[in-house]
Amino acid sequence: MQDIMIGVLAWIGLNTSYNVELNLPNLSFTEPSNVCANYGINNKGRCQASGVIAFYNQKKTIYLPLNFNENSKEDRSKLVHEMVHYVQWANNKNKTECMGNLEVEAYELQEKWRLSQKLTASLDPFKTIMLAASCED
Ligand SMILES: [Zn+2]
Repeated sequence: MQDIMIGVLAWIGLNTSYNVELNLPNLSFTEPSNVCANYGINNKGRCQASGVIAFYNQKKTIYLPLNFNENSKEDRSKLVHEMVHYVQWANNKNKTECMGNLEVEAYELQEKWRLSQKLTASLDPFKTIMLAASCED
């Protein structure tokens, strides 16, 4: 898993202007319902419907579900998303940029990675519009 994370970090470095000479974040594997609880989603049905799979917090830990499959590109694309957040925080971007815009950047980079891996496009333009709009005064 470490080599995968190093590869993702290098990819982020090539595709952004962030400094990626960083230690790797911690990984924590947990029941999907616990991942949802980190988001404040306690209802199991709602948890599955939300698609919440990984969550990055400021303690430099990425939470992944127990059924995360490191050989699945689909799952890896979610790791890419969370690693982008890790890099944003490590570069203090969270201190100058609105959360919605950080989310948009993470989704757009995830999408770019997906396309580079020949995965189908998954980014919902409406979602990014709503996230960016949440940052407008
Ligand atoms: Zn995110």
